[in-house]
Amino acid sequence: MSENKKSEKIVGVKGMNDILPADAPLWELFENTVQTVLKSYGFQQIRTPIVEPTALFARGLGEVTDIVEKEMYSFTDSMNGDQLTLRPESTAGVVRAALEHNLTYDGPKRLWYQGPMFRHERPQRGRYRQFHQVGAEAVGFTGPDIDAELIMLCQRLWDDLGLDNIRLELNSIGDAEERHRHRADLVSYFEQHRDLLDADAQRRLYSNPLRILDTKNPTMQEMVNAAPKLLDYLGPESRAHFEGVQNILRHSNIPFTINPRLVRGMDYYNRTVFEWVTDQLGSQGTVCGGGRYDPLVEMFGGKPTPACGFAMGVERLLELMKASGEQYAPNQCDAYLVHQGEAAQLQAFVLAERLRDAGLDVVLHCASANTGGSFKAQMKRADASGAAFAVIFGEDEVANGTATVKTLRSDDPANNQQTVGFDAVVDYLVDQIVSGGEQDHGHDHDHAGHVHYKH
Ligand code: ATP
Ligand code: MG
Repeated sequence: MSENKKSEKIVGVKGMNDILPADAPLWELFENTVQTVLKSYGFQQIRTPIVEPTALFARGLGEVTDIVEKEMYSFTDSMNGDQLTLRPESTAGVVRAALEHNLTYDGPKRLWYQGPMFRHERPQRGRYRQFHQVGAEAVGFTGPDIDAELIMLCQRLWDDLGLDNIRLELNSIGDAEERHRHRADLVSYFEQHRDLLDADAQRRLYSNPLRILDTKNPTMQEMVNAAPKLLDYLGPESRAHFEGVQNILRHSNIPFTINPRLVRGMDYYNRTVFEWVTDQLGSQGTVCGGGRYDPLVEMFGGKPTPACGFAMGVERLLELMKASGEQYAPNQCDAYLVHQGEAAQLQAFVLAERLRDAGLDVVLHCASANTGGSFKAQMKRADASGAAFAVIFGEDEVANGTATVKTLRSDDPANNQQTVGFDAVVDYLVDQIVSGGEQDHGHDHDHAGHVHYKH
């Protein structure tokens, strides 16, 4: 390797983002809220591998979907020749796992997941090549009740996240036979308007005409609006199911609009489909999509098992949270321990552990390449850490069996330093933090010493 190559900077993959420490508190707030809400509806978390056999997606999502046609990161395992894919979504993997482990042997299951997904798309605002989803899959439920519950769960999550600009669009795409009849009429309608179809639509005319309804091309809107509506083809059972969902939502005061053109990208959906959309994110305004996918388990070789779920785009929701001015605590700690000399360092280690035992977040000064060990340099670090207090051990403190506690976020600089006996420091700091410093401090400690972000 040449010298030149060695020192060349390696940068991350295009469209795949680093989530930096400054954003971590927002992610944590989101993830904690998600976890709490899902748990409150009885959903249990499932974690499946990021890599799955390519066949899982080809079979599960359908060969002529955007994802399978052009967005998958697929590769051959060089060790054994297996065809593998980085998961572009998680429904297929969760259903595979549910089947493989016979999770529904004793009844239906409410499952949820979170994690990175991979799609080779053109990176832009709200559209990345590695992005994150939170999703829920309710496997083994037949009625409209679970569809409505999944939607209500989302509404509660938006409320808890402080998001009030997300609206619900709802549709039913019926069952396979109903779609078949609609499709025949749709294709002949599009054939009559062939001159208006763009290249994408031409390509899909016979392979996936339903998808044409989902076009974002403005010159096709009028023609598409007047196309035969799937809703008009629903039989009594599909109609009753759709009515059932709407009844529960109306009764629960969840507003929605019916969008007869709403379809989902994957082949496995039937009956209820829904999307949560916002006008605040430009053209990438869909923050969550879901629906019923009764045929999928059977497509994977399982017994017929109805199911329903959704997936939400975490990056898009976080952008909304930022736009809504949601407050969240920046990275910070309770105390930064400053020390000078070997004996002081050993004392600092002992105290740091005691403070952590009491539930406090503590940063102990450690040697580093760019910070000198001087008292002044350490105090600068303490300030930068966002800590509420510095606890200082110098020669005097060690000799006297004390520590100096300095308030770093005080309005009253004259009265900000206190000498405290070594064994009293823990109680003193816990007292200070529980009683006073919270306003500047940004988080509370409960009795168990857990930290809650204020928002
Ligand atoms: P779109 O029409 O925007 O491509 P989609 O129908 O492909 O969305 P789904 O497969 O339903 O999206 O995924 C559910 C959610 O995941 C989307 O509503 C969106 O919020 C998010 N999402 C999908 N693709 C991306 C991506 N490339 N980057 C960021 N978020 C995404
Ligand atoms: Mg897409």
